[in-house]
Amino acid sequence: MANWVYKFGGGKADGGTGDKNLLGGKGANLAEMAGIGLPVPPGFTITTEMCTRFYELGETFPDDLTPEVEAGLDHIETITEKRFGAPENPLLVSVRSGARASMPGMMDTVLNLGLNDATVEGLARAAGDERFAWDSYRRFIQMYSDVVLGLDHYLFEDALEIAKEDKGYALDTELTAEDLKALVRRYQEIVAEAQGDPFPQDPQQQLWGGIRAVFASWNTERAKVYRRLNDIPHDWGTAVNVQAMVFGNMGDRSATGVAFTRDPSTGENATYGEFLINAQGEDVVAGIRTPQYLTKAGKDAAGADKPSMEEAMPEVYGELAKVFDLLESHYRDMQDIEFTVEEGTLWLLQTRTGKRTASAALKIAVDMAADGIISEEEAVCRIDPKALDQLLHPTLDPDAKRDVIATGLPASPGAAAGVIAFTADEAERRASLGEDVLLVRIETSPEDIHGMHAATGILTARGGMTSHAAVVARGMGRPCVSGAGTLQVDRDAKTMTVGGRTFKEGELLTIDGGTGEVMAGEVATVQPKLAGDFATLMGWADAHRRMKVRTNAETPAECRTAREFGAEGIGLCRTEHMFFDAGRITSVREMILAEDEKGRRAALEKLRPEQRGDFEQIFRVMAGLPVTIRLLDPPLHEFMPQDDADFAEVASASGLAVDKLKRRAAELHEFNPMLGHRGCRLGITYPEIYEMQARAIFEAALTVSAEDEAVLPEIMVPLVMSPGELATIRKLIEKAAEEVFAEMGSRIDYLVGTMIELPRAALRANDIASHAEFFSFGTNDLTQTTLGISRDDAGRFLGQYVDKGLLPRDPFVSIDEAGVGELVELAAERGRATNPDIKLGICGEHGGDPASIAFCEKTGLAYVSCSPYRVPIARLAAAQAALRAQR
Ligand code: PEP
Ligand code: MG
Repeated sequence: MANWVYKFGGGKADGGTGDKNLLGGKGANLAEMAGIGLPVPPGFTITTEMCTRFYELGETFPDDLTPEVEAGLDHIETITEKRFGAPENPLLVSVRSGARASMPGMMDTVLNLGLNDATVEGLARAAGDERFAWDSYRRFIQMYSDVVLGLDHYLFEDALEIAKEDKGYALDTELTAEDLKALVRRYQEIVAEAQGDPFPQDPQQQLWGGIRAVFASWNTERAKVYRRLNDIPHDWGTAVNVQAMVFGNMGDRSATGVAFTRDPSTGENATYGEFLINAQGEDVVAGIRTPQYLTKAGKDAAGADKPSMEEAMPEVYGELAKVFDLLESHYRDMQDIEFTVEEGTLWLLQTRTGKRTASAALKIAVDMAADGIISEEEAVCRIDPKALDQLLHPTLDPDAKRDVIATGLPASPGAAAGVIAFTADEAERRASLGEDVLLVRIETSPEDIHGMHAATGILTARGGMTSHAAVVARGMGRPCVSGAGTLQVDRDAKTMTVGGRTFKEGELLTIDGGTGEVMAGEVATVQPKLAGDFATLMGWADAHRRMKVRTNAETPAECRTAREFGAEGIGLCRTEHMFFDAGRITSVREMILAEDEKGRRAALEKLRPEQRGDFEQIFRVMAGLPVTIRLLDPPLHEFMPQDDADFAEVASASGLAVDKLKRRAAELHEFNPMLGHRGCRLGITYPEIYEMQARAIFEAALTVSAEDEAVLPEIMVPLVMSPGELATIRKLIEKAAEEVFAEMGSRIDYLVGTMIELPRAALRANDIASHAEFFSFGTNDLTQTTLGISRDDAGRFLGQYVDKGLLPRDPFVSIDEAGVGELVELAAERGRATNPDIKLGICGEHGGDPASIAFCEKTGLAYVSCSPYRVPIARLAAAQAALRAQR
C-alpha cells in the first residue's frame, strides 16, 4: 500500500527526511528542521505522488488517503493538546502547497482552517482575546472563499472597506471585536448569496476542501506559466502540508517575518529580513503593510524610523539569530526562512535555499568557498549559467543626467528603461510589439507573472524587499524597484502621479534596481566591468573546463567584446553579414543580378578589397586565435532589391536596364528559399563567389602575418550534403590559396572544414570527413531540416507543442537530444572513424544553451561557439558539464 502521508513535529519526522521529490521542498525541509530539533509546529505532508494520483483519478482522492490524513491529524492533536473542531481550545491548521522546486506565490494556501461559529468562541477564550479570534475568523472566511470556493476576493475587500467607512476608521486595526463579528456575519451572507450554500461549518469538510484546492492549484494558468518559464516539468506535482497554526497576530508580543541568512540582492554576509508585529505571514509577503527591519544594522542603513526586531524583541531575535547560523551551516547555502513569534515563542514555518540575484549568487559562492564551507567545484556548480546574463548587460552611466522623480527600495538590481504599462496584459502586448516595457503597479500579485516576464523592469508603489514583486523579479533577473510610496498609481485612469507630475501609459521611465531610483525618460548606460567575484569564479570554472569556448562574431567590435568575455577563437564568422553594409549591398545585388559570369566577376572585384579589409581587422583583434570564416551561405532573396530606388541604384552601378534587372530578379524568385539556392550550392554554381572570398581571406591572412601577428584561418563550407560538394569547393580554395601565396611570396597554415547542418551530411560524415579537417555542427539548420520545421515560422506553434508535452523544450533553443542529438553523435563517430584527428565543434544557437552544452560535453566536442554575450554563460556551463561528467 502506498504511503501518502508523512508526519513531522515534536522533535522527529517520519521515514526518510529531506526527500524533496516525494515531500516537496517545503515538506522535506519542515521534516528536516523538525528532525534536528528546531521549533516547528507539528504537521504532516501529503506527498507529490498523491498529486499525480489525484489527477489520474479525475481530481478525486483514493479511499486509502482518508485514514492516513486522520492519523496525521491525531498526531498534531497529540502534540498540541488541542482538538480539531473542538469548541474548547480548538486546533486550527494551515494547508499549504510545496512543490519540488519552489514556485513562490504561484499556488494556494489556506490559513486558520478549523474555525466556525463555535470554535471561534473557543479560540477567543483560549487566547483571552476576542478581537483576535474574530479577526482570524474573518480572514479565514475570506481566504477559504477565494481559494476553495472560488469566490471573488473583491467581494470581501469591498465589505471590509464599507465596514471601516461606516465607522469612520482608516486602519483595519481600528475594527473592534464587535465590528469584526458583524463583518463575519456579512461575509457569511456574501458566501450564501454567491454560492447558494452557507459557509461550511464542518472542519472536516473545510480540511478536505483545502487539500483539494491546493492540489488543484498546481494546474492554474499562472502556475503553468511559471513552470514553463522556469523549466519545471508539469508532471512533478505538488505536495500538501497541513500544519498546526501558530499566531503572529496575538498582540504586541507576537510577530511574523521573513529572513535571508545573507543579503539576497548583494550577497553580503549579513542577516537580511523584515517582520511585522501583530500580523500573519501573508501580510509581509503581500506587501500591504510596509514591514520593519530585522536587524539594527539593516534599519540604520535604510534610515528607517521604526525599531528593528533586534531592538524590539531582543530575546527572540537572539534565538532566531542562532537558528539562522544553524540552518545555513546545515544546508551549506543561504536560506530564506519564514518564522512566527506567538506570544514570545519562536516557531519556524519554512526554510528553503534563498533566491538571489546573479551578483549575490557569485558573492555567496565565492565567500563560502573562501571560508571552506563548500569546495571551488561546488561553487562553480552552484551558479546558474543563465543568471550570469544579468551581469553582462549595461548599468546606468553614473555621469548621465538623471531626472529622479521618486525613490523606492532597491529590490532587484540592474537598470531598465521602458514605456509604462499599468497592467500585465498591456505589458505583454507592448513587449510583443518589440517595445521595452516597465510594468508599473501598486503591488504585483501572482496573476501578473506573464507581464513581469514580458517587462524589462518592474516598479511598485507598495511592498517591501520580500514582497511578491521583489522575490519574483530577483528570480527572473528583472530589475525592480518596490515600495516607491510617493507614486500614486491610478490603474483605471492609466496614470501615475508623483511630485505634481503625471505620467501616462506609454511614456518612458528608467529605474535603477540597485539604488531604488525612478527617473523620467531614458537614462544613458555603461558596459559592466567583469572583475571581482565574477572573475574569481570564472577562473575556477576555466580550470575545470575541457571544451573551448568560441564566439559567433563578424565585426571587430563583436570580436573585441567576445574576447573581453573570454572567447578563445571565432567559431562562426558569417560573411554575408558583411555584405549588408551600406556601401556594399549595391555591389552584392549587382553580382546576384548579373546576367553572366563576367558580370558577376566585375561586381565581385568591387567587394574583394572590402572583404579583405574586414578579415584583416578580425585577424588583428583575434591575435592568433583560430578564426572560422564561413563562405557565403544565405538564400539570395535576402539580398534582393526591395524597391524601385534599390533597382535604380543597381542599374546605375552595373549599367544594366532596370526592367532587365527586374526580370532577372523574377527569374531568381524561389518558392522555398531556405531549401533553395543557398549554402555551398552557391559555390558550386557560381564558383567565382567563393574564389573571391577565399582570395580575400588569404590576402588578409598574409597581410596580418607580415605584421608579425599570428593568424589561424579556418575556412568553413556551409550546407554540404555530399562529399563531392566539399571536395569540389576544397579544390577551389586550395587553388586560390596557392595563387595568393605565389603572388604575395609567403605561405600560412590554414584548415578547411564543413558545417554539418543537413541530416544527409551527418549520415555521410565518414566520406565527408576525408575532405575536412573540422566539422562544425550547424544545429539551427540541422534542427530545421531534421524536424522539418521552418526555423522562421516555428514560433507560431511550437509553444503549444511544449505546453502539451509533445516536445520537452523548444528544440531551437535546447538541442533535441533524441533526434538531432543522435545525428550529431552519429556524425561525430563516423567523422572520427575516417579522420581520428578531426576537430569537432558546434556553432548553432545551442552552443550558448547550458543544457545543450552538457550534451556537447557528453559527445566529446572540442568547442562550443556562441554569441559574444553568451560566452561567459558557455564557459560556466562547460565547466559544470565537465565536473558533472566526472561525478
Ligand atoms: C546553423 O545552421 O546552425 C548555423 C550556425 O548557420 P546559420 O544560423 O547561419 O544558418
Ligand atoms: Mg545554417
